[in-house]
Amino acid sequence: MYDGLVVPVMMTPFERIPTDEGTLCIQCQGDGFLVCFRCKGTKKMSEIEDPSKFRDCSECEATGYKPCGFCQTTGLAPSTLKTYIRDEKFRKIVARMRKIKCDEDGRAKIQKVMPAAIAEVEAKRAAVDGREAQVLRAAPEDMEPTGTWLGG
Ligand SMILES: [Zn+2]
Ligand SMILES: [Zn+2]
Repeated sequence: MYDGLVVPVMMTPFERIPTDEGTLCIQCQGDGFLVCFRCKGTKKMSEIEDPSKFRDCSECEATGYKPCGFCQTTGLAPSTLKTYIRDEKFRKIVARMRKIKCDEDGRAKIQKVMPAAIAEVEAKRAAVDGREAQVLRAAPEDMEPTGTWLGG
């Protein structure tokens, strides 16, 4: 079924959700985390006083990765994030994920929690859209002739 298409080796959990390329964070490509800019993923940084000496990178807590600040670990493009973040539960999950330590466990957690959280918001939004459509259809018959009953 992928005839003629190049399938990327590294599939992120987000790749099944977006409908087009524009829904992914351009910084982390939907991963929710980035290679640490300070140690470039080496987990070590040289000491300022003696560049020949190395110690654990303090920027990433020696994990080599940092939560993506651009999408706040959601892997979403800014426009989508702006919409989804209005959901209170989603906002709380994002707040928690942003502070996560990006070791192997933390990265696995982001990639497990975020797609689920995003799917929940999308389901909620779909339900609301459905209700609004119903209300719109029902409105002309259900509405009271406002004005005539007021002021009794
Ligand atoms: Zn680092
Ligand atoms: Zn990102």
